[in-house]
Amino acid sequence: MKLIKKSLLGAVLLVASSLPAVAAEINLKLAHSWPKGFPIFATSVDKYAALVSEMSDGRIEIKVDSRNKHKSAFGIFDFVKSGQYDIGQSASYYYGGKDPDTLFFTTMPFGMTALEQYAWFHEGGGLELANEVYAKHGLQVMTGGNTTMQMGGWFNKEINSVADLQGLKMRIPGFGGKVMAGVGAVPTNIPAGELYQALERGTIDALEWVGPSLDLRMGFHKVASYYYTGWHEPSTELMYFFNKKTMDGLPKWASSILLNAAKLTGFNMTVESQHESGVNWSNMSSEFPNIQVRDFPEDVISALRRSNDELLKEEASRSELTQSIIQSQADYLKQIRQWTEIGDRAYLNNIAGK
Ligand code: CA
Repeated sequence: MKLIKKSLLGAVLLVASSLPAVAAEINLKLAHSWPKGFPIFATSVDKYAALVSEMSDGRIEIKVDSRNKHKSAFGIFDFVKSGQYDIGQSASYYYGGKDPDTLFFTTMPFGMTALEQYAWFHEGGGLELANEVYAKHGLQVMTGGNTTMQMGGWFNKEINSVADLQGLKMRIPGFGGKVMAGVGAVPTNIPAGELYQALERGTIDALEWVGPSLDLRMGFHKVASYYYTGWHEPSTELMYFFNKKTMDGLPKWASSILLNAAKLTGFNMTVESQHESGVNWSNMSSEFPNIQVRDFPEDVISALRRSNDELLKEEASRSELTQSIIQSQADYLKQIRQWTEIGDRAYLNNIAGK
């Protein structure tokens, strides 16, 4: 009996496998900001599409277009808003020109670390606030993966005082860019694929990109050997954008898979970032002995902090929603940092050199 059953099943499987693949029930298009196959950022989106297909047993298929295809690294917000694409993956802070409130949902200078910020997003009301901002544009968002602590960037000369920042042309997006402008630098944003050339040609004097997870393979050290430690992006979170109309039109199981796969892909990307940073940093001094690692002098950090606080005060007066986002982040940071201090910092101090 068993044998018959088995052979019957075999016959069914044989027939099924010789049939053409069944078309997916739901076909979606996704655009991201990165060059095709760009490590960690673009590859995590490819993994997202594969995970959605797997979780839905092939009922949802996502076609992923990189910047090479759609040609607009910073066009993701508009692509998804207009419905040209159903889903996007990018950094929220690239869209401050579309809506200044989007600046708060990537990372903030002097702000939360990655784990603190995840707690804010998923337990402290951060994601609800992000969705309140994005709903105004017909979008829904989900966290999409963190770079963890970013470095302060690559400079072609040492920064010894605030005077050294005057007129300094630096690629630095988001709120960090505004803070830099506040102390006399000239911030600009340039997509990943054009960074090396801009630094090499002197279009810019300095840039920040990510950290050891991604910077070293970009070759920045060949044209700017001073590598500064971080202050402006302690927790850079990428974001999945969904066209709200598309999402609302999907069955619940499908929108749930799309959102939860984004969250899980984000977790995987965060882990990969941390891993790559650890591996690359440990090899850096032997592989690239010319890189000079520096901390910004205290008076530079203090000036940046003052610029940051003034800007936040100005921003908070813009609207009630802006005020509530800034307040939510400040309150949450104040609370969670107490635990980080006694948890992580005390632990690291206790065991240092032992
Ligand atoms: Ca960055």
